[in-house]
Amino acid sequence: MSKEPPVVGRAGDSLAMSAAMRRRPHATTPPSRFDYLIVGGGFAGCVLAERLATQLDRRVLVVDRRDHIGGNAYDMLDAAGVRVHRYGPHIFHTNSRKVFDYLSRFTAWRPYQHRVLAEVDGRQVPIPINLTTLNTLYGLNLDSSGAEAFLAARACPSARMETSRDVVIGQIGKELYRKFFEGYTRKQWGMDASELDKSVAARVPTRTDTDDRYFQDTYQYMPEEGYTRMFERLIDHPNISFLPRTDFREVKNAVAFDHLIYSGPIDEYFEYCYGKLPYRSLRFEHSSHDCERFQAAAVVNYPSLDVPFTRITEYKYLTGQSHPRTSITREFPTDEGDPYYPIPRPENALLYRRYEALAEQTPQVTFTGRLGTYRYYNMDQVVAQSLALFDRIAKKSGAPA
Ligand code: FAD
Ligand code: UDP
Repeated sequence: MSKEPPVVGRAGDSLAMSAAMRRRPHATTPPSRFDYLIVGGGFAGCVLAERLATQLDRRVLVVDRRDHIGGNAYDMLDAAGVRVHRYGPHIFHTNSRKVFDYLSRFTAWRPYQHRVLAEVDGRQVPIPINLTTLNTLYGLNLDSSGAEAFLAARACPSARMETSRDVVIGQIGKELYRKFFEGYTRKQWGMDASELDKSVAARVPTRTDTDDRYFQDTYQYMPEEGYTRMFERLIDHPNISFLPRTDFREVKNAVAFDHLIYSGPIDEYFEYCYGKLPYRSLRFEHSSHDCERFQAAAVVNYPSLDVPFTRITEYKYLTGQSHPRTSITREFPTDEGDPYYPIPRPENALLYRRYEALAEQTPQVTFTGRLGTYRYYNMDQVVAQSLALFDRIAKKSGAPA
């Protein structure tokens, strides 16, 4: 496998492009036209590029307006040499054997079980709420059935169960909701949990045993050499060219291609003709510290509204890296900035459906990914979406899937 970074110059700069293409081990001349132009070098774009290039022998150009591959999963060494995630902590977890086996072709894995603490009432306790959380917060000595009874006595199920607030209060009652969910959700989304679809808070379960893992999926691993290396391998193919620092708008008329796959925001593609789809953004404050450990867990959540950020991540837990220094990220949610989170609520789903209908009338473009289909997807769901999309493309082309 090539050690060369799969980066091929600037859009529209055919000389830079051909020089870089010549450096690539398999390439002779750069293609004058591409079968596919793929917008976005995240999971959605790179998985499709890999499939189209290797399985259907298609020539693919991937462009990204950022200066790197990997989308939001991009990781890098910071100035101190500690591996950090530029866009906040990315933990790989899935129940899909298909997704896990697929990605395993491009990376070795480090087994990793994610654990999170929440700072509540001056203590750091496990979240998801579990037996330890309840016993620590309330000075009790409950067993699992005692914890079940404790929660059942407090739960206030409502008839409708439609919003995130309904779901949480229906499981754990108002007091625990206020301590763990109310402020965190208000900060993260800029709105009350009663304004958000139930699917948002339903991501975080409640447990009455001592299992303190954030996820219970079958496959929980981190890429051993990081996400960026995995992405470099995904697109390391003579049929794939990658242009960083290149917006779709710069290349759409400068590059010849047959079909467009678009994993950027769908509303942006259609020039916001029905209005803007709301996204929540984050400001990341990265810092490096002259100590081996900064905090007691990989992630510490701060649900209190008195603290302006939602959580602090310490990357060495995730990566297993040994280093005399350590690096952390604080996340400050904001409305301005890159679109990170589609906001799951009914009126946004309706607006998205109008764009989706427009997309259906635009057969020369396929929309995919978290931004292209306006879905609050995890990485594994985006990989599964791209693999399924590829199967549909392959079927249409008559090739065996
Ligand atoms: P992206 O990774 O967003 O890639 C889209 C790319 O398209 C971007 O790089 C963007 O620059 C590019 N682009 C957009 N428009 C244009 C344009 N016009 N021209 C050129 N390029 C363009 N998932 C997990 O499974 N586990 C986690 O722990 C986890 N943690 C997360 C933490 C945070 C803070 C965030 C924001 C997300 C997290 N996710 C996590 C979700 C994960 O980031 C996504 O599921 C995944 O990255 C989506 O891949 P994608 O390719 O759809 O989108
Ligand atoms: N949440 C919360 N308190 C917490 C953790 C999560 O209120 O300590 C809520 C919050 O609304 C958050 C949602 O649950 O956005 C989903 O949490 P998850 O950790 O799955 O979000 P992610 O960071 O993966 O997007």
